[in-house]
Amino acid sequence: MERDVLAREIIDTCLEMTRLGLNQGTAGNISVRYQGGMLITPTGTPYERLTESNIVFVDADGQFEEGKIPSSEWRFHQAVYQARPDANAVVHNHAVHCTAVSILNRPIPAIHYMIAVGGGNTIPCAPYATFGTKKLSEHVYEAMRDRKATLLQHHGLIACEENLQKALWLAHEVEVLARLYLTTLAIVDPVPVLPDEEIAIVLEKFKSYGLRIEE
Ligand SMILES: [Zn+2]
Repeated sequence: MERDVLAREIIDTCLEMTRLGLNQGTAGNISVRYQGGMLITPTGTPYERLTESNIVFVDADGQFEEGKIPSSEWRFHQAVYQARPDANAVVHNHAVHCTAVSILNRPIPAIHYMIAVGGGNTIPCAPYATFGTKKLSEHVYEAMRDRKATLLQHHGLIACEENLQKALWLAHEVEVLARLYLTTLAIVDPVPVLPDEEIAIVLEKFKSYGLRIEE
């Protein structure tokens, strides 16, 4: 796909992320895999002011285009593309419920069968490291090797998928799971969970039927 088309899709996905209530201020960032590197949102520009020319290309070696500065989180986007050859789009935000669970430093357990959208029986929580650091990208790499989404301790959420629409959909589903978890956690701890055998069945069903995104 042409660069400008992908850049427009990134901006539209940012605006949709805000519309869904997943984003806090300019905290979120979004990328797509492109020519061995990625196209990613710039640092510190409000989404409603973004134009295609603001989107930054970061190559495989982490070099940026001259005169442009990518989101300070570009390193963990790169780590996701390295950990997951199937991922072409990465969405990151500080959605309130995901971030609240990350502060508890817990994975989201199998409280609902939709947990399987992340590729396993939990949404893990990657250990804390300062934003933008290589250390944080190493934690993300480990967490995302066998999952499509992870919480980041005291920080937020990352979700990846084969395209932007699915990645945003996944980020939204995980936020719903986090909200369900916190709601039940207020009443009982530990929260009842589905057995691993059941999640294995659901994972298999998701594989064969494919996920349908409601338009
Ligand atoms: Zn962040």
